[in-house]
Amino acid sequence: MSTILVTGGAGYIGSHVVKELLRQRYQPVIYDNLQTGHRQAIKNAPFVWGDLSDSKNLKETFQTYSIDAVMHFAADCLVGESVQNPLKYFNNNVKNGIKLIEIIEEYQIKKFVFSSSAAVYGEPQKVPITEDHSCCPTNPYGETKWIFERVLQAYHQAGLFNFISLRYFNAAGADPEGDLGEDHSPESHLIPLVIKAALEGTSVPVFGTDYNTPDGTCIRDYIHVTDLAQAHILALEKLGQKNFSGIYNMGNGNGYSVREVIETVEKVTGRKVKAIESPRRSGDPARLVASSEKIKKELGWIPRYPDLKTIIETAWKWHRNHPRGYDD
Ligand code: UDP
Repeated sequence: MSTILVTGGAGYIGSHVVKELLRQRYQPVIYDNLQTGHRQAIKNAPFVWGDLSDSKNLKETFQTYSIDAVMHFAADCLVGESVQNPLKYFNNNVKNGIKLIEIIEEYQIKKFVFSSSAAVYGEPQKVPITEDHSCCPTNPYGETKWIFERVLQAYHQAGLFNFISLRYFNAAGADPEGDLGEDHSPESHLIPLVIKAALEGTSVPVFGTDYNTPDGTCIRDYIHVTDLAQAHILALEKLGQKNFSGIYNMGNGNGYSVREVIETVEKVTGRKVKAIESPRRSGDPARLVASSEKIKKELGWIPRYPDLKTIIETAWKWHRNHPRGYDD
């Protein structure tokens, strides 16, 4: 059985990947500082509390568990915060990530799966975006993901390890079995915020209604978190092949506007949502839609929950059962 170190495994995407790893008979070991993650989300796997900056603790973890591969989720990931406090992002996402690679080199780990982001592209020149699209991030968060990918590429070219970087578009939804869900504090993502507004009868701001899109609001490509998790397992399998590294977009190729998301939440929940037209949020591109043909072709990824309604239904199920998140 392969043992996989999952940094940030208690977080939203990480915990869904951990569940999938267990289901497919891998042994995940979670390393997380629980700053944004939840201990309740990872009840069935070994857990080490620790910060990425703590190399001693990390090394001990590599020693205690004989690690075969690393999946690296631990990162700061709020675009707005990265604009206000860029050093936090360069320190955690780049500097601490490099410390992790140093340990990986020391322990001669050859397989690395990285959580990257559509934010590496910046304002797209054309949609759907393919992986060869130019990378020109418009905020420090995207910059850190782009820098780290280039570090990985250089390491790979030096023959030190193989990596797969998955560029997530908008991860959404919840574990269809209802065990896991999205619980950020504070929440900043559209779908959980609209569901919360439906549940509590509060309002939700629509950031920008004057974009050059059919209804004036931003368009995003929402991908179910369990489909995303499955892609990580395929990546791990692919890394078993000699000298292979790759970068893949993770989306469904369908764009939905903010208004369409709100309408779909209303349909799924049967409740009205009060939407308040608000100014644009800085750094938001008008339209981000992925081409994920490359991962379908090369890794055989097939999404099971590609449509927005299903994605929102799974999220609704979790939020309805956990109105206060994992504390319920
Ligand atoms: N958005 C919005 N109101 C909110 C939160 C988000 O209108 O309260 C918009 C946001 O401007 C973007 C889309 O919803 O166009 C998705 O935002 P989210 O933060 O979920 O993901 P991002 O695309 O930033 O990764």
